[in-house]
Amino acid sequence: TLTIGVLALQGAFHEHVQLLKKATEQAPPSEWDFIEVRTPQELARCDALVLPGGESTTMSLVAARSDLLEPLRDFVKVHRKPTWGTCAGLILLAESANRTKKGGQELIGGLDVRVNRNHFGRQAESFQVPLDLAFLGQDASPFPAVFIRAPVVERLLPHHEGIQVEEEKREETVVAPSRPAKDLATTASNVEVLATLSGQAARLATQGRDISPEAEVGDVVAVRQGNVLGTSFHPELTGDARIHAWWLRQVQEGVQSKRKTEQ
Ligand code: GLN
Repeated sequence: TLTIGVLALQGAFHEHVQLLKKATEQAPPSEWDFIEVRTPQELARCDALVLPGGESTTMSLVAARSDLLEPLRDFVKVHRKPTWGTCAGLILLAESANRTKKGGQELIGGLDVRVNRNHFGRQAESFQVPLDLAFLGQDASPFPAVFIRAPVVERLLPHHEGIQVEEEKREETVVAPSRPAKDLATTASNVEVLATLSGQAARLATQGRDISPEAEVGDVVAVRQGNVLGTSFHPELTGDARIHAWWLRQVQEGVQSKRKTEQ
């Protein structure tokens, strides 16, 4: 059995659990166990983890109060277990985020990116666009991507260790604490851009809305780096379980090959 946790401190965790179940409806019941994670003990049981959408500042405050921040960082960056963050979850998995209240937010990190929170501004707090996701297959129909006060990945960062020095010092920029170099030895893979919101999709999304022109050029809305996946949008708020199914297949393959090498 593989145990998949959904961080359940705040936000759309229930929806993720529902969609994970939907994605595995055909699987034998013993194969998957989906649990809500609120404590370090629950986290320790997990083979993989989902961080839901919601409000990232609140989520990190509750995580800190629940003594989950360090265990979460270890989960992602030391044990390198598969972790997927959606929206607020993506923010928490970024090494750097701006538009954060000074001193207000702790990040988990794992993705060498800087995210821009609430990228689409207040006027366009939420929209849905059909998004082409190549990783779902050549013939896959566009995914109904729901954006709610969504972040985008505004910059791919050079490898981790350099971030704190190389980043321009913006007052609002927060940075996830770095790990000792030895933990990072095997995490050198670069960030892979999986999807951008561009062209027609961006125009559709922003029609009639007061929004920065850069939004139309192509905002990065899905990235992967090694064991970590991040999406700006909320697949958990649709009935479409394709991304969940795809991610679970990767989790399964990853865990199986890891177990083989450990044998
Ligand atoms: N804007 C939220 C934040 O900064 C994220 C929104 C969401 O998860 N839908 O945390």
